[in-house]
Amino acid sequence: IAAAKEGQIDDCSCNVDSLDNFNNNKIYPRLQSLLTKDYFRFYKVNLKKDCPYWADDSRCAMKYCHVEACHEEDIPAGLKAVVAPHNKYTMESCEDDVELGFLNKTLSAKVIEDFVLWEVYDDSQDNFCIINENDSESEYVDLLLNPERYTGYKGDSAHRIWHTIYMENCFRPTRTSFHAYIQNDKLSGMCLEKRTFYRVISGLHASINIHLSAKYLLSEKKGLGLISTPIWGRNVEEFHRRFDPENTDGEGPNWIRNLYFLYLIELRAIVKASQYLQKEEFYTGNEAEDWDTQLAIKDLLNVANQFPNHFNERAMFAGGDEAQKLKLEFKNHFRNVSSVMDCVGCDKCKLWGKLQTQGLGTALKILFSGKFDDHNTPDNYIHNSNKKDFQLQRSEIVSLINAFGRLSESIFELSEFRKFSS
Ligand code: FAD
Repeated sequence: IAAAKEGQIDDCSCNVDSLDNFNNNKIYPRLQSLLTKDYFRFYKVNLKKDCPYWADDSRCAMKYCHVEACHEEDIPAGLKAVVAPHNKYTMESCEDDVELGFLNKTLSAKVIEDFVLWEVYDDSQDNFCIINENDSESEYVDLLLNPERYTGYKGDSAHRIWHTIYMENCFRPTRTSFHAYIQNDKLSGMCLEKRTFYRVISGLHASINIHLSAKYLLSEKKGLGLISTPIWGRNVEEFHRRFDPENTDGEGPNWIRNLYFLYLIELRAIVKASQYLQKEEFYTGNEAEDWDTQLAIKDLLNVANQFPNHFNERAMFAGGDEAQKLKLEFKNHFRNVSSVMDCVGCDKCKLWGKLQTQGLGTALKILFSGKFDDHNTPDNYIHNSNKKDFQLQRSEIVSLINAFGRLSESIFELSEFRKFSS
């Protein structure tokens, strides 16, 4: 861990100490409170989708993989509404556009329908991840009831997922083995974009493994009959096993640096979308709660904007046809990663894996779709007649802020683990 703390975070002009301070004192406490608000707490997700790559090897029998179901009465009324008032793809919002002169009012419903479908298609081209918030099998999950922590998911099934993501979906430097591939020093010959792809996946992997070490199953207290109460807490040994250089061919500190790198990417995306996010209503149907959420978001964005050295996305995909081809490839690889999440054989891990890849996909969309470029003044968001261009679906906003919350907590946990090492 000490090695990871030394110096700069590669590909960003920023050092680890300043980022630790900024995160642990400013961002982390704010996110902890924000993420308990109803808007961010309920996430709609399909955990039943078939794995498109191999037969199901689900290990849901493992008791800590179980996802606690949501009680119908706990879901805020505003989220349950069949046609969400803020869904841009309803006929209502399309008719608003008609009012604006977008389409001639005399157009038939069929034409409007086609137009809506085309818009959905058009927008989906910007997505770095497959979104299926509105399919019939999606259900709300209360994230506070289902914290990300140790589940016992490991072995071939977990390895197959990581292996597939690294070997089949990351850009590979040359034909090389899994172990050679996951060494950061093999990345030096790669261009920034390909290196970035590997580093965001590795950063996500590091974050997941920090969480399971920080909320480890330490023991089970036997109660009456068959009932036992799990005791969760930090497992320092597990953390060292996973990240110390001597246990990881020297790679552990690089994986931790990749986590910082991913944090900077998501932070930059949030800052880039901040004018847009400030205008969101965070509608749940409870006026007082929605107002509190709006204030808490403004406060978070205000602080996020103060961080001086952000990731510079303009350095990526800059150039002509080759760069555009690379961007398309990057997007396709990332979509594959998001679909591999349907193959995770533990529902709790799948839930957080899907949420975090969707959050990252949203960050990449904000950074690279071009729709959030050069619109950094509030007026552009209010008056621009193309304001529909800037809309994000609710699940994208929820996943983006929750995914960033996961990374923020990982960085906080790293400083807790460091206390045990010194
Ligand atoms: P793994 O973490 O499985 O890693 C496999 C190999 O990848 C390692 O041997 C190492 O060579 C390399 N590697 C490790 N870390 C990195 C990195 N950061 N960057 C690059 N290469 C690396 N378990 C839980 O208990 N709770 C969860 O919530 C949870 N969520 C998961 C979500 C997903 C999507 C997946 C795929 C797995 C999840 N797991 C979870 C399982 C967990 O990540 C590990 O796979 C499991 O604990 C087994 O760990 P391992 O020591 O065998 O190495």
